Amino acid sequence: MAVPKRKTTPSRRNMRRSHHALKPVGHQECSNCGELKLPHHVCGACGHYDGREVITEASA
Ligand SMILES: [Zn+2]
Repeated sequence: MAVPKRKTTPSRRNMRRSHHALKPVGHQECSNCGELKLPHHVCGACGHYDGREVITEASA
């Protein structure tokens, strides 16, 4: 099994982790009801997507 020759220094370790930060999730206002929703997702409040009702009250 391949094994690292040297211990990773704290500096190298932290440089590697410099890309690991989480970004805040984006959100847009629903064009139908104005509720905040995730882009490319059906609105959880009114069930609309792309200008039409995808999930009706009866099916949801
Ligand atoms: Zn909506």
